[in-house]
Amino acid sequence: RELLEKVYSSQAVEQALSILVRGRSEETERFRCRQAELRRKADFDELTGIYNRSTFYKKVVELFKLYPKDNFVIIRLNVERFKLINDLFGEETGDRLLRYIAEKLADAQFEYSTYGRMHSDNFVICFPLRGSNQMEFIGTIQQDMEQALPSYKVAMTFGIYYVNNKNISVSTMCDRAGLALQQIKGNYMKSYNVYDERMRRAILQEQDIVNEMNSALSGGQFRVYLQPKYDIVTEQIVGAEALARWIHPEKGLISPAVFIPAFERNGFIMELDIYIWEIVCRLLRKWIDAGYDPQPISVNVSRLDLYRTDLCDVLNNMVKKYNLDPGLLQLELTESAYTENPQQIIEVTKQLQKMGFPILMDDFGSGYSSLNMLKDISVDVLKIDLHFLDSQDESGRGGNILNSVVRMAECLKIPVIAEGVETKQQADFMRDIGCYCVQGYYYSKPIGVEEYEALMNSI
Ligand code: C2E
Ligand code: CA
Ligand code: CA
Repeated sequence: RELLEKVYSSQAVEQALSILVRGRSEETERFRCRQAELRRKADFDELTGIYNRSTFYKKVVELFKLYPKDNFVIIRLNVERFKLINDLFGEETGDRLLRYIAEKLADAQFEYSTYGRMHSDNFVICFPLRGSNQMEFIGTIQQDMEQALPSYKVAMTFGIYYVNNKNISVSTMCDRAGLALQQIKGNYMKSYNVYDERMRRAILQEQDIVNEMNSALSGGQFRVYLQPKYDIVTEQIVGAEALARWIHPEKGLISPAVFIPAFERNGFIMELDIYIWEIVCRLLRKWIDAGYDPQPISVNVSRLDLYRTDLCDVLNNMVKKYNLDPGLLQLELTESAYTENPQQIIEVTKQLQKMGFPILMDDFGSGYSSLNMLKDISVDVLKIDLHFLDSQDESGRGGNILNSVVRMAECLKIPVIAEGVETKQQADFMRDIGCYCVQGYYYSKPIGVEEYEALMNSI
């Protein structure tokens, strides 16, 4: 100022300085606004204006601190087939739907609660159990959804986690609610699911399996068990099914029911299947070389294998390598694979049959469109699993269904194998309705290769 006043009048300096200061404070104000805007962007979900995931986590912690004595629930909400809604009505409508859901969360009547959007069509809410009914909340949201779109019924699914331990992170709590939600994906009968500890244990178990599977395969821990198939009249063995077993050095024998679903989820089943097929081919070659005329062995072909473009080559090379008639290696394709992608399966099946591999349709009757599909695909054998019948009593509905399936197969000239035959009664019934091939505990459980060889020798 002193310097300026030497040159300019003090009034002019006063004016200039006041402009400067005002300017600066305007700038400060603008800066503050920008900061607030950035913070808002960081804290809130841009599309819906409600909290985003990380703010939701923070707000839940605050809620827990404010009401330390209360029990809370965290519910994840998901729009069923949201992609389809976007495809059918356009993304703008999809966005509008998401904003609508956010509004409904805001409208929910709780004494206190906090909610946010996790990602895309996934929302989350946390509220105290005291004084609020979580089922009522779910019901209200479902009702609201009926009016969400004029010509489409929007379905929501809910994953529920009752917060029983506030010491774990909120993100873990949300993962647990998410896990409960995941488990109802594709289950049209169920719209909500509650997290329980078993789910966590299942995840941990699956993690163990995934960690160990590669070394288990290279370490020879997977073995083949053979379950004989019998001719019901002669009671002679007419073949066997190869079933995988994991002989774990510490845990002992692990059943396929434990590891096959995990392998199907992570794709490892394709490696295991090839490994099993090769063991079976080697066995068949060994028996032939020893002077036997072996019965065919069927192997399981996972639905994932059917998506391999080189499946036919792999199998063809395998039988060539061991110089086997492909007729000795029967392929069991599960019926549900047929319903998933019929066109692809029809093509692959045709090719495999042309190469000489017999095709067995496994678990026939477990899916939905099997009857309808039989006219389009050609299979060599139908396997009916007696488990899939609701009623075990042969004289009742279950028996009638079995009877008609066998009749129908007869008309189509497709042989039938009944599996899961556990009692003499069931065996007699199958014989009476004209099904002469059986596999099941009543005849033999799956057995080790040596035991099967002893059985072969005894015939
Ligand atoms: P699956 O192909 O339907 O095999 C028949 C299952 O029923 C076998 O179970 C067998 O042990 C069981 N079983 C046979 N007879 C009876 C009976 O009388 N009563 C009862 N309750 N069960 C009977 P397992 O060996 O536990 O295999 C389960 C499933 O795992 C198989 O069902 C198959 O889908 C899959 N699996 C097994 N090994 C392999 C494999 O190497 N590759 C693939 N992709 N899947 C496999
Ligand atoms: Ca099978
Ligand atoms: Ca089966």
